[in-house]
Amino acid sequence: MSDAIRPMVCATIDTDALRNNLRAVRRMAPRSRVMAVVKANAYGHGLVAVARALDEADAFAVARVEEGLALRQAGIDRPVVLLEGVFDAAQLRAAAQAGFELVVHSPEQVALLGGAPEAAFRVWLKLDTGMNRLGLREADFAAARAALGGMRCVRGPVNAFTHLACADDPSPQATNRQLDRFAAATAGFAGERSVANSAGLLNHPRACTDWVRPGLLLYGVSPLPNRRGADHGLRPVMRLESRIIALKWVAPGERVGYGGAWTASRPTRLAIAAVGYGDGYPRSVGIDADVLVDGRRAPLAGRVSMDMIGIDVTELGERVAVGDPVELWGEGLGVEEVAARAGAIPYELLCGISQRVAARTR
Ligand SMILES: *Cc1c(COP(=O)(O)O)cnc(C)c1O
Repeated sequence: MSDAIRPMVCATIDTDALRNNLRAVRRMAPRSRVMAVVKANAYGHGLVAVARALDEADAFAVARVEEGLALRQAGIDRPVVLLEGVFDAAQLRAAAQAGFELVVHSPEQVALLGGAPEAAFRVWLKLDTGMNRLGLREADFAAARAALGGMRCVRGPVNAFTHLACADDPSPQATNRQLDRFAAATAGFAGERSVANSAGLLNHPRACTDWVRPGLLLYGVSPLPNRRGADHGLRPVMRLESRIIALKWVAPGERVGYGGAWTASRPTRLAIAAVGYGDGYPRSVGIDADVLVDGRRAPLAGRVSMDMIGIDVTELGERVAVGDPVELWGEGLGVEEVAARAGAIPYELLCGISQRVAARTR
């Protein structure tokens, strides 16, 4: 009999919460279908596990061909949309074989499609309405639509797509300008329309067209400043957890960790936990951000190291012991709060979970 090694750092993925959040998104946009965005390893949550849990999504959206192929290799046969389309003939062939839908955002991509087999692709033509990243301006958009409309490889009508730059902004002007441009350029389009990301879903009902494209919301996290997923009826999907590996007393005036950046102001019960920036817990949270020790809040003591953090557990009393769980973020401590402490956005922290963190679903 072999003893299973218990990993030091675990990202536990709550599949019930994922399904709950998909239902919450459907309530927010009852007339829209849902393209569940699972790029970047499902925002660090595990691409295949998330896609299996979200088997009721109407489609999945990924950034790169390889991400879509990983879904197919796992036996997932839902529609898959490539949010940035394809960039060479090999990608085009792979995408055709796998039955992916393509975003088309440039004249080069329109030309590339000329070489594709008959009825290979459903296409989403992307208009640049003001983000100025990907997408065609109005004049090129009309020309591309005409060109695609005459191509044998395009299945069904050409669909229309744009992306919002400022949907999380509480004042709606910038988004309204984008929505107006989109409405004008796509008037008379027979195809479907897709605009809203998570912040668009929350702030701009007008952006909830035929298809919405939530990413962050599905993971139970709010894209809006000073809000948490629970404010929108969502449940956090990931709990990042480690455990205490050492405990000691530190005398007043003693310093803790690299650079001696933290100094004990009283006799301090110091816990060391086995998690650090090598796991994706950001060093930029500073020297006294909160974590949860066995469910109770306690501040860090000193800088985050690669493999460890120090925690001031003096206030928690004698009950704290080696082996106790330490939650870095999850239900009890929102990743939104940790990101704000780190001067980051929750997207960065979730995507930054490193390879050595064990993923576990429940
Ligand atoms: C990543 C992405 C989304 C999802 O964004 P969230 O803010 O996570 O909802 C939607 N659309 C496009 C084009 C994207 O690249």
